Amino acid sequence: MAKYFCNVCEVEFESDDENPVCPVCGASGDDLVKQEDEAE
Ligand SMILES: [Zn+2]
Repeated sequence: MAKYFCNVCEVEFESDDENPVCPVCGASGDDLVKQEDEAE
């Protein structure tokens, strides 16, 4: 699972999809920022 942050509604969510869609507002593409896991 990769984490994504939605710049439109500012929610964080997880998705395995190559082209994830925000579950809250439906944003996709450049509106989503992939989050790198910082904790090991
Ligand atoms: Zn959103």
